[in-house]
Amino acid sequence: MSHLVLIAAELRELLTAADLEGLDVTWMVAGEPTPRGEFVAIVPLLSRWVGGTELKHLPQLRIIANCAAGYNNVDVVAAEMRNVTVTNTPDVLTDATADLTWTLILACARPLLEGIALIKSGTWAGWHPTELLGLELRGKTLGLVGAGRIGQAVGRRATGFGMRIIYAARTAKPDFETDTGARRVELGPLLHESDVVSLHVPSTPETKGLINSDSLARMKAGAILINTARGDLVREEALAIALENGHLGAAGLDVYADEPAIHPRLLAAPRTVLLPHIGSATGDTRRRMAALALANVRAVLAGQPPLTPVFR
Ligand code: NAP
Repeated sequence: MSHLVLIAAELRELLTAADLEGLDVTWMVAGEPTPRGEFVAIVPLLSRWVGGTELKHLPQLRIIANCAAGYNNVDVVAAEMRNVTVTNTPDVLTDATADLTWTLILACARPLLEGIALIKSGTWAGWHPTELLGLELRGKTLGLVGAGRIGQAVGRRATGFGMRIIYAARTAKPDFETDTGARRVELGPLLHESDVVSLHVPSTPETKGLINSDSLARMKAGAILINTARGDLVREEALAIALENGHLGAAGLDVYADEPAIHPRLLAAPRTVLLPHIGSATGDTRRRMAALALANVRAVLAGQPPLTPVFR
């Protein structure tokens, strides 16, 4: 008997016949409401909200297999109350997202975009000793806000650049500290001491707006802010102001509070490197994310524990 499942249509080309074996799939189209009916599983992207209303219209649902590490698009409390399992796709995207975080760190530390613009404009006048000077990373401090899978992977890469690492997290990470020399500090000192602050906590009611006008004011003059976690961790207008008034050296962002819209003041702010949420965007990683989401669906439908539940 095949199971009725809903899968985001964008995942179609990433999935193999083996991933879909035994499933009767209805493909969900972006921007269209979530179908109703006797579906037992849903595999949404982070752009689709799955909350109380959707759950009410899917009375047979057993699993929400989010195809992302974050799951702030799912009402996990409503799901738990309905006894619906929620899974995400951690681990498989850690390296890709850590690499992209470093892409942003390097592009902010050195005026990469300005250099490219100079070449493309045809106005480059040749090597100049004081032109387009950037920040030397060796000996500088990287502050990780959140040191889970991606935060630690970003920190491990920092040792190759000779950076000192500090991190703020709810729990200590002794292996990470031993391997990298990282030191755990409170958020206040982290903001004060870091030359580069990189965000790696999930979006939750406690972390929303973590970076606001107060926290930006506590950052070192000339420091760089990187966000490859979730857009609503940052108050975007406050960030734009800190860039406009010269307090912040640069900002490298992959995520935004109201994607795909970007706050107009942030879009116009100087010294930004803005990417369109491509942290996990390598072919290998995207295929692994889709396969893991479907592996969670098959496990739950077979009465087995999910591979990567968001809560145990
Ligand atoms: P993770 O392994 O679960 O790590 C999350 C870290 O955040 C943990 O260290 C956790 O602390 C900490 N944390 C959780 N809630 C917190 C809170 N309320 N206050 C302070 N710290 C808190 O997750 P991950 O795989 O590293 O992913 C991190 C986030 O990156 C995801 O949630 C997702 O939103 C985002 N992401 C973005 C992209 C992209 O495309 N740009 C790709 C992948 C992931 P403890 O360890 O102490 O519990």
